[in-house]
Parts: sequence; structure tokens; C-alpha cells
Amino acid sequence: MPPGAARNRVRIRQRELIYPVSALRRICVYCGSSTGSRDVYASAALELARLLVRRDVELVYGGASKGIMGVLADAVLEAGGRVHGVIPKSLVENEIAHERLTELHVTESMHERKSMMAVLSDGFIAMPGGFGTLEEIIEVLTWGQLQFHSKPCGLLNVDAYFDRLLDFVAHAEDEGFVRPQHGEMLLVDSDPGKLLGRFDSYQSPQVRKWTTR
Ligand code: AMP
Repeated sequence: MPPGAARNRVRIRQRELIYPVSALRRICVYCGSSTGSRDVYASAALELARLLVRRDVELVYGGASKGIMGVLADAVLEAGGRVHGVIPKSLVENEIAHERLTELHVTESMHERKSMMAVLSDGFIAMPGGFGTLEEIIEVLTWGQLQFHSKPCGLLNVDAYFDRLLDFVAHAEDEGFVRPQHGEMLLVDSDPGKLLGRFDSYQSPQVRKWTTR
């Protein structure tokens, strides 16, 4: 056993008694490249960051230093956590790639970025953000729906930010375009601890997208 390993194990055990350690090693967080117009969004990023570190979960995100993305990455690093950024080379300048990450992957394309983020992560959370954030979480949710993966996807519903999106999902179910079991795949909570708790016990539905009615 390498020197210090026994001491580390005791430290981790002590932490497990206080905070449940997640079975998920890395979580991808999609969020805005802007900070939004109210402080509540950055505050939620700080809270999520501290929680991830306490639970020994590493962050995977889009690699930017701007917006909620930057706030989240800085807070995880400050709390002593590990952060993996993945950014396409075309956005290194515009989104100002973060220079102090544990690891920064610069990809050739946006598609490569998204698949690398998906492979690196054991689950996916969207925090408030714009079109980019919505596109990313919905895409990975559809990959789950198609059973390309069985990892949990969720919304951190800060100050009811996603309520209208949730109304739309309910509408799509009512209109017969989304199966209720697939709608339920999208885990939603305003409390990051509760959301992560639901990630830990997540079981992907066995309903196939293409079963005939
Ligand atoms: P936004 O939510 O629009 O502020 O963007 C958040 C992140 O999503 C940024 O890192 C964007 O680069 C990324 N993004 C924007 N458009 C797309 C897209 N079509 N596919 C994947 N990611 C995107």
C-alpha cells in the first residue's frame, strides 16, 4: 500500500459518515456561458460545486471561464475538487478556455466535445442556461431514451427556471409525442443534494422508444 493510503482511507470513511459518497464518479454539468441577470444562478452554482466536492464527485463541463460555467469550475477547484473541461478549438477564444483546470480537452468539433463529455460522465445535470445548455441536456436525454446509455439526466431547477420547459414536456406527453416513462427520465429538483440522491438510485426505464402501440 503506498504511503499515506491508509490515512486517506480513514479520512474518506470519516467523510462518508457525514456526507453520503456518491456512486457516480463524474458528473457533467451543462450551464450558461452567461451569468444570467440575477445572483441566484451563481449562488446555486456555488452550492452545487461544494456539494460535488463533499461527495467526491468530479466535474465535467464545457471548459469555459465565462458565465455560470466559469463560476462552477472555479468553485469546484477552490473547494479542492477535480474539473475536466472539454471545449472545441473554435470556441477556445470566444468562451475563454479556463486555464487552471485539472484537465482541459480541446476537441476538433462541437460533436466531438459532446460525445467526449458524455463518455467521461456518469450522469448529466443542466443548470440554468441558454440554447446551448438546452440543446446539450435534451440531446443526452434523447440518447438515454434510445438506450444508447443508461445514465441519469436531470435539471437543477433553480428558482423555478425550468418550469416552462417542464410544462412543455407535460404538453408533449399529453399530445402523445413523449411517453410518460421517457418524460420521467428527466429528474428535476431545486435542491442539488436531493437531485444527486435521485441520481444515485436512478434506474433507466425499460420502455423502448420504438415499441409499436
Ligand atoms: P448557452 O447555454 O447558450 O450559454 O451555452 C452553454 C454552452 O453550450 C456553451 O459552452 C456553448 O458552447 C454550448 N453550446 C452552444 N451551442 C451548442 C450546440 N449546438 N451544441 C452543443 N453545445 C452548444
